[in-house]
Formats: sequence, C-alpha cells, structure tokens
Amino acid sequence: MPDIAWINGVITSLDDARVSFLDRGFLFGDGVYDVLKMCNGRTFAVKEHLDRLDRSMEAIRIRPSWSRLELEEIIRDLAAKSELLDARIYIQVTRGAGPRKHEFSSGMTPTLAIFIVLQQPFPEEIRKAGVRAITVADERWAHPQIKSLNLLPNVLARQQAEESGAYEAILIRDGELVTECSSSNVFAVLNDTIVTPPTDGRILPGITRDLLLKAAREANYPVKEDYLALTELQSAAEIFVTNTGVEVLGVVELDGKPVGSGMPGRITGDLYRLFVSRWLNA
Ligand code: PMP
Repeated sequence: MPDIAWINGVITSLDDARVSFLDRGFLFGDGVYDVLKMCNGRTFAVKEHLDRLDRSMEAIRIRPSWSRLELEEIIRDLAAKSELLDARIYIQVTRGAGPRKHEFSSGMTPTLAIFIVLQQPFPEEIRKAGVRAITVADERWAHPQIKSLNLLPNVLARQQAEESGAYEAILIRDGELVTECSSSNVFAVLNDTIVTPPTDGRILPGITRDLLLKAAREANYPVKEDYLALTELQSAAEIFVTNTGVEVLGVVELDGKPVGSGMPGRITGDLYRLFVSRWLNA
C-alpha cells in the first residue's frame, strides 16, 4: 500500500486523506511541517527532523498532544505499511480545526497529518552535470497586498493583542513605520489631517479604507495617504481602524497609554457616521 497517510490516528490512502476545511492550516496557513527521507528502506536523520519540528511548533505555540515516542512509532508503522524503500515522509502539524477567527484558544487539539510518498533517488546524471541557478529578491512573506492564506504572522500578532487585553495589533515595520493591523487598516488624525499609510505594496488595500477615503474626500476632510511613523501614531489626537466587520472603530489606548482624550475622537465618530450614510444606508 504505497502513498498512504495517517491523519489524527486514521490511516488512509493519500487520495482519501481528509482534514476539516475549518482546519487552521487551510484557513490561515497556521501550522508547521517537516519532511524526512527514506533511502533503501531506512529513515534518515529522524531525530534532527523531529527536533526541528519541535522547535517550529514551539515557536508558534502549538503544544503537541503526542509524545516523541508515539510520533516515531507512527512514522515507523507508516513506512512499514507503505512498503516503500525510497520515499519522503511529510509531517504536517496545524493548530487544529475551530471557529474562523484569528485568535486561538489554548484548548485546541492540533491536527497531526503524516504522509509518505514515493521519491526516487536524485538522478545521477544531473548530479554529475550540475545545474543552473538564478538570483531572485528574497521576498518571502513580503507581499501583504495579496490577501493570501498565509496569515500566520497576522494570527500571532492578533493573539498577542488579545493576550494583552487589546482588540487589535497595529503592525510596525522595521521598528518605525506604521503599516496596518492584523486584520484592519489604520488611520491617525494628526493636526486635524486624516493620515493613513499608502497602498505601496506594504499593506492590504482594504475595501473599507478605500471607501472611507472616498467619502472623506467628497466631504472635504483633509486626507493624506502618507507614511506614518510610530512616533506620529503615538502623538496622534485620534486613531481608528477600518475593515469590513467593524467599519470605522476608534482606538482609545495604544500600548497602555490613552489616545487623545481616551474616548473615540470627534473625527472618528463623524467619519463612522459619514461611512454609514454614504455607503451602507445609501
Ligand atoms: N488589512 C488586513 C491585513 C486585513 O486582513 C483586512 C481585512 N480583510 C483589512 C486590512 C481590511 O480590509 P477590508 O476593509 O477589505 O475588510
């Protein structure tokens, strides 16, 4: 039985292997994996791979509900059942299935999915000849303008917010540049001007952000799409965030310090009402 999978204790063919579509691996890319190889029927560097998997899980705070011994046993069992000699063994761990919200609870049961697939040894003639390579910019995780499923950084930021009693995490790039939030865009009121970071590839172009900017400009509010320094945010008279769910939501405390009067600001309230009347009740 080649190409088989073990998912949360159930062994199936790879084709029949299923996890819930509410699994956070599917919804958020909220998981880690490792892969080891089998040559001539022997698994290679198992300890090293499982150590790295442990470190990856720990880094994103997934606590395994299985022991190292159990995992090794499952891998051995799967390898034997597959009868493959040259194979890759993938170990996929996600935070598990649950309601679709960024923050997670500590009580979630992780999904453990292991599968084994045939992998012939690397072709000798290519090894002998060597290969070509090109250089590309290292842009991993560098496309926030894409509404991608790889939400792990957003998930971890939002979790940190929740655990410190905050609603949202405002993201700061390189220690000084305000970009957006874990699941919303951010605005500040500076000297009576409404400022929000530009859509320069470093933020998700929020629909709410765009509609609000349009409505604010029509109503002659001074609006600027411009870079926003952390120090400016810290001294802003008002801060608010926008997304499809909250529309326009005032931030009254930033890193434990009150924003403005410590209540949602006047411009924030005006813009919320403007947004509702211009787009929702239009
Ligand atoms: N930024 C991020 C990272 C988001 O996930 C969201 C929510 N989709 C937004 C901004 C706001 O986008 P929208 O106004 O389209 O809901």
